Amino acid sequence: MSGTKKKKTGFLYAKEVVVWVLLVAFFSGLIIFNKDRIFKKDKDTEKTSEAETEPGIFDEDWLNQSDSEPEETEPSETEPAEPTVEHTQALAVAEGSGPLRVYFLDVGEGDAAILTLNGQAMVIDGGDAEHAGVLVNWLANLGIGRVDYMISTHPHKDHVGGLPSVYSQAAVGRLYTPVTEYAENAEFSRLMTLAHENGTEVRVPQAGETFDFAGAEVRFLGPTRFDPDEMNNNSLVVRVRFGDNSFLFTGDAEVNEEADILSAGYDVHAEILKVSHHGSEYATSVAFANAVGAKECIISVGANEYGHPSANVLQRLIDAGGMVYETMVSGTVTVTASGTGYTMNFER
Ligand SMILES: [Zn+2]
Repeated sequence: MSGTKKKKTGFLYAKEVVVWVLLVAFFSGLIIFNKDRIFKKDKDTEKTSEAETEPGIFDEDWLNQSDSEPEETEPSETEPAEPTVEHTQALAVAEGSGPLRVYFLDVGEGDAAILTLNGQAMVIDGGDAEHAGVLVNWLANLGIGRVDYMISTHPHKDHVGGLPSVYSQAAVGRLYTPVTEYAENAEFSRLMTLAHENGTEVRVPQAGETFDFAGAEVRFLGPTRFDPDEMNNNSLVVRVRFGDNSFLFTGDAEVNEEADILSAGYDVHAEILKVSHHGSEYATSVAFANAVGAKECIISVGANEYGHPSANVLQRLIDAGGMVYETMVSGTVTVTASGTGYTMNFER
């Protein structure tokens, strides 16, 4: 009997040693793991803060949608090249503010985006006239009866054609445009007429100008000068920041305007990039793609004869650390930003 008892005690003792060894190993591991994280955070607070945030915790109904896709929670292995300018400080988000929702609409070969935040709405471009119904339906379905800010990046048909139809659904508070006259496109003239008839304030912004969109900062980074030869290079380039989250809308800016913006020293860094000019080869230089360092790159593109998007541009965006989405393939892309993280959704 005693022999059995002794044996049992010895077994228990061995078990305790194993438990202690496991506990020590576990806590050592925790300390090493956190040291690594603390070091990383010191090194680049802005990049890791987003990656460490649980996606969608501010927005449970969003997570319940079956077709929603969670954001990447792990930072990518290959870090994008360092931006050429200093990062600006993250903005504080007021309690209860948000989320900022950005809808990159599938309007074929053209650009149209709707932004909503804290009861306000903004439209950046409207696609061509043929797809005006897409924009108007989205506004109606979102219950938007007032567009506080409308940005017409430039007066080409594939960006401005759908904007006059907005007036059939919503009042428009303020219109930003790089020009007030553009005889080549009657649709733009129609937009200007509607703006004047409806009391919309029309503004041609200067580079560097900012305005507050319901708690998000909107900054015009370009154009820094007027290009009389290429209207694409007069595109209003807009950076929107909400807390740690940042978006860049580039219109159809080509490499010359990109270079101007970089040499002016503007912070172009953005987590989410509306890729310029439908992925054209003449835009999204290596330097610009690297300076933006976008994680999500949305190309607004449809069937076209221009070879959009360019395979070289796709490669530049991937090399800069981004995932690329085309509206032609993914449909309308929606990004829901809490100010500390974001989720993405795709619907065709
Ligand atoms: Zn275009």
